[in-house]
Amino acid sequence: MRKKDFDVIVVGAGPAGLSAAYVLAKAGVNVIIIERGKFPGAKNVMGGILYRKPMDDLIPEFYKEAPLERHIIEQRMWLLDEESHFNMGIRTQKHNKEPYNCFSVFRAHFDKWFAKKVVEAGALLINETVVVEPIVEEGKVVGVRTDRPEGDLYADVVIAADGVQSFLARSLGLRKKITPEKVAVATKEIIGLNEKEVNDRFGVVDPSEGVTIELTGPFFEGIEAMAWIYTNKTSVSIGVGAIIKDLIDHHMNPNDLLEKVKSHPSVLPLIEGGDTKEYLAHMIPEGGYYSVPKLYTDGFMVCGDAAMLVDSIHREGSNLAIESGKAAAKTYLEAKDANDFSERMLSRYQDKLEEMYVLKDLKFYKNVPELLEEKRYLLTDYPQFIIDAMAEIYTVDGTPKPEKFRKIKDELKSRFGYINLAKDMFTIWRKLR
Ligand SMILES: Cc1cc2nc3c(=O)[nH]c(=O)nc-3n(C[C@H](O)[C@H](O)[C@H](O)COP(=O)(O)OP(=O)(O)OC[C@H]3O[C@@H](n4cnc5c(N)ncnc54)[C@H](O)[C@@H]3O)c2cc1C
Repeated sequence: MRKKDFDVIVVGAGPAGLSAAYVLAKAGVNVIIIERGKFPGAKNVMGGILYRKPMDDLIPEFYKEAPLERHIIEQRMWLLDEESHFNMGIRTQKHNKEPYNCFSVFRAHFDKWFAKKVVEAGALLINETVVVEPIVEEGKVVGVRTDRPEGDLYADVVIAADGVQSFLARSLGLRKKITPEKVAVATKEIIGLNEKEVNDRFGVVDPSEGVTIELTGPFFEGIEAMAWIYTNKTSVSIGVGAIIKDLIDHHMNPNDLLEKVKSHPSVLPLIEGGDTKEYLAHMIPEGGYYSVPKLYTDGFMVCGDAAMLVDSIHREGSNLAIESGKAAAKTYLEAKDANDFSERMLSRYQDKLEEMYVLKDLKFYKNVPELLEEKRYLLTDYPQFIIDAMAEIYTVDGTPKPEKFRKIKDELKSRFGYINLAKDMFTIWRKLR
């Protein structure tokens, strides 16, 4: 009989691995979770907005107990140029009452709390241990090799939740080497302010209420980038993520890009006078649907960032990680019932994700990376036109309104041409079908 130390080995204690281990431990499965950090969250970076629903399905009313910063009542999207921002967004009381929609969090606090729940549910957590390679026998993954002396561990199934670089998925040939056009590098600063400053600057009255701002547009000069500002209890998180290839092509380093964002006239008043508490950097897999690899092989499943499950358009990653961890765990339970851990059986994991919003959303946007590569001006010229048109409409200069609207229409024609505009609209419609 084959050696077996555990039913399941989970590699990585981020949201994906912790969710998988929680479901398994709750079902009485003998599961170990191996984390390279000093504690879960120690090495993890997020903007970070955590969505309630996937977590609440796992641990009902978790938000009453978990270390969260603020629940988000307003989400703004700013189109930026050098001197203006055009604001869109939603502020709603629907998100200002239980069970809430999403929260700002610090991963170092949240992951640590989540891991405690996982251990209480019955999983074994080993920190400060690096998984160095999968153990494969007769074509099947049967365990992992760790950097500990005599650190080989065997199990029916290994779940890789080892993040964006996923050494495990790569060494099994499921994932190719990460390329600079499919990954963003993000830098983030936590800037300390007092509670009143955060409330006043972001227009909330209660210290539990929070605001998010996402920033994009011609300000980034054609670099595919998205910046963000999120309110915490007594700080704001400000960061920017940009596709690595674009940074290279524009000879821009990520830190300079963050400094540029911080000095924007609309941004500066929000952070002015604050002191930098932390500076962090991390990669985000932004390749979209076509970069998602096959998610299973004999005795092995891959979840979360390791599986490239990030919807960068909607700033969703942690929720996809949680959903995929849960789906992998449920697939294991089915496999256990059938006593079959083969590739055929574990393929149900990918089927589950295809049926859920996880892969449906990524599939919906599957052509967006290619579209933005081909028509980079969609990120600059159209947003610039919107900013200019709004500034024109709101400038009271004695020009009659019909004349202003005619001017805007003429401007639209001269900048894009009606035929090109129609072509772009058609292309966008076709790519999103
Ligand atoms: C700057 C930034 C901002 C973001 N903002 C948001 C946001 O606001 N909202 C959102 O939903 N998503 C956001 N994301 C995405 C989100 O953080 C990820 O999608 C999510 O963390 C993925 O979870 P995961 O468990 O798959 O991976 P991770 O959180 O990366 O966890 C992987 C874990 O595996 C461990 N590990 C790795 N290799 C090994 C090994 N060999 N052995 C042992 N342990 C190992 C790591 O230490 C880590 O704990 C952001 C990401 C970044 C970088």
